[in-house]
Amino acid sequence: MNEIDILKSISENLSERKSCAALNNYEVLCNNIEYVNNLLSLGVDHLREIQNQISSSLKRDEDVLEILRSDTQPLFYFRNIIPQILLNNINILDKFIAYTLPDDRHHITIDNVGELRKDFMDYNNLVTSSRQLIDSLVVDSYQLTLLDAKLTNYQVLVSLNSFNKYVTPSIRQGLFNTDIETSLNTFESLPYNQWTNSAITRCDHKTFANKVDFLFSNLGLTTEDDFKDEIKNLFKFSSEFTHIGYVSTLFTSSNKGEVIFTDSVSPYLPSTENFSELKYKLLETMVNFFAKIYLPSLTKSVEKLFQPRIAGLISTHISINQSLMVNNLKTRNNEYYFFIMQGMIGSDQIIDLTCMCEVTNNWQPPHNLAQIYCKGCGSKFKLLEISGDPGYILTDNGPVKVIGSSVPEFSDLSPQEQQKLIDQCKSVAKQPSI
Ligand SMILES: [Zn+2]
Repeated sequence: MNEIDILKSISENLSERKSCAALNNYEVLCNNIEYVNNLLSLGVDHLREIQNQISSSLKRDEDVLEILRSDTQPLFYFRNIIPQILLNNINILDKFIAYTLPDDRHHITIDNVGELRKDFMDYNNLVTSSRQLIDSLVVDSYQLTLLDAKLTNYQVLVSLNSFNKYVTPSIRQGLFNTDIETSLNTFESLPYNQWTNSAITRCDHKTFANKVDFLFSNLGLTTEDDFKDEIKNLFKFSSEFTHIGYVSTLFTSSNKGEVIFTDSVSPYLPSTENFSELKYKLLETMVNFFAKIYLPSLTKSVEKLFQPRIAGLISTHISINQSLMVNNLKTRNNEYYFFIMQGMIGSDQIIDLTCMCEVTNNWQPPHNLAQIYCKGCGSKFKLLEISGDPGYILTDNGPVKVIGSSVPEFSDLSPQEQQKLIDQCKSVAKQPSI
């Protein structure tokens, strides 16, 4: 291709957005967005409690390590700084949660389906709030892990230097006292090439990607290279939106009419579905980052600050929050197995499949295998056919009724009958496998 061919392809593709296609199940996306948005909200509620716990313990000399009790030691000053870092993180997380709520479409009809349309403003707000969140969680995880005076000085002085360039006098007066003015002047009087390495400042990992690499290696996440790339890719993708790149602007600012789709809840537009797909992906990445990087970095700082007994209490609280995030996120788009009586698939019966998320999916004849997934959580179902009328199958996880069997549901059995089956499962589990 020569330069004219390239420009031709750009002019044809970037001047008009093609009709977008809905590639995912919108109903499942909405359910999963609601679930993961609530999950992150719960994680932030826990973080608020942890922030309170850390903030009160930092005020008590008897709770902190000896080294934090003397104002000649750098860690002494982190007693004020850390609660503020955590509060900033909570605020940015709250903002992201507000931009990733599921679409409310219970009042949507063919006449007002246009309300669901997503455009430049929606995309820009969603992606910019994601950018702010990932940026600040990476920087603060880095600071929390290291708790180093020079590193924190650099981070804050660079930020003050930029802020000071354009700030109005009244805001400036409300923020800057003489001490911080002197600190900033001292920093600004350094030759620029010494900003990252001077007697008062240091920065060993300047870029976002450098900090991400450091955090993954410091936390021993050696098998998470795909996730590490996902974080770096989110940063690049969000730059394109935040800095109003050509592609993102074109994609989001088309005013072309859209076809109307409909499902069991209401009509919707392809652009709504596309937007939800992105929203879900962002939510998933953020919950993973919060659980796998941010919370463990917080634990690292707790271990450097508190007496072992207090550090233990706070770390336990953090690790409960972490498991809650990881385990609950796994329930989305999972894969579950069902035992089913031979002959049911392909019959004229509706097959009720109750998922782990408690949603019952009514699988209609003629039982198209492509439609066998959960509308509640997007999990795929795999069916194992069993001949005869086998009743219950005894598994490591307890007794499971074979769908279509003539026995009652396990939950309808008397407590004694339930216990008998559970005991049988335990004895099966104890048998050595062949
Ligand atoms: Zn489900």
